[in-house]
Amino acid sequence: MKAPGTMKALIIEDSPEFFLAAAHVLEQAGFEVLGAENGTDGLDLAAQQRPDLVILDLGLPDIDGLDVCRRLRTTTDSYIVMVTGRRADQDLAAGFAAGADDYITKPFSAIELDARIGAVMRRSRRLIEPVNATDLRLDEELRTVAFADAVVELTKTEFRILEHLVHRSGEVASREALAEAIWGTGWDGVSHAIDAHVSNLRSKLRDLGWTGKVVSVRGVGLRLVAPELAS
Ligand code: CA
Repeated sequence: MKAPGTMKALIIEDSPEFFLAAAHVLEQAGFEVLGAENGTDGLDLAAQQRPDLVILDLGLPDIDGLDVCRRLRTTTDSYIVMVTGRRADQDLAAGFAAGADDYITKPFSAIELDARIGAVMRRSRRLIEPVNATDLRLDEELRTVAFADAVVELTKTEFRILEHLVHRSGEVASREALAEAIWGTGWDGVSHAIDAHVSNLRSKLRDLGWTGKVVSVRGVGLRLVAPELAS
């Protein structure tokens, strides 16, 4: 089990001003901070150092930030916070689709970044009790979900979604509540972003051999349906 003080953050950003400001906030929060000024170096460092958190500028000099994000997502389950120049919903949607967990816009405030990294650190590392209705066993420390003898790893965002749904025990969870659980904010443009993560979660649950379902309730939200009730 890692204490927050040994967590690593990687900042991939070509602007020295932003790098220094973000590094300061992260160091204050107890992270060991690594930096890369371009996508190539960032991907190399991420592979070597396996950071817990990646702050990723989408406007990099060599590789498109979204490509960096996609590549990171295939090799790491780091919590990825994308940095965008403006809050355009289509940019954010593309970022979430590429696997980002959260975003900040430039210019950012220290408080805003602090709130984002809080999402990485606030996960307490406890084992979540099996829920009778689903028989899924969630392990927050390993970030896995198990069913019968099978185990699958989840991304941080997928884990948050599943954890939230499991706690709701079959009741509908609204998209706003899920957004709050995942990103700490009920940003109203997130529903399609959640859907991308839910779709990945569904296929992982199928891979487990679990026959329950994550059901979308139109206009309301999502709920978990136990195997014996799913048909
Ligand atoms: Ca830049």
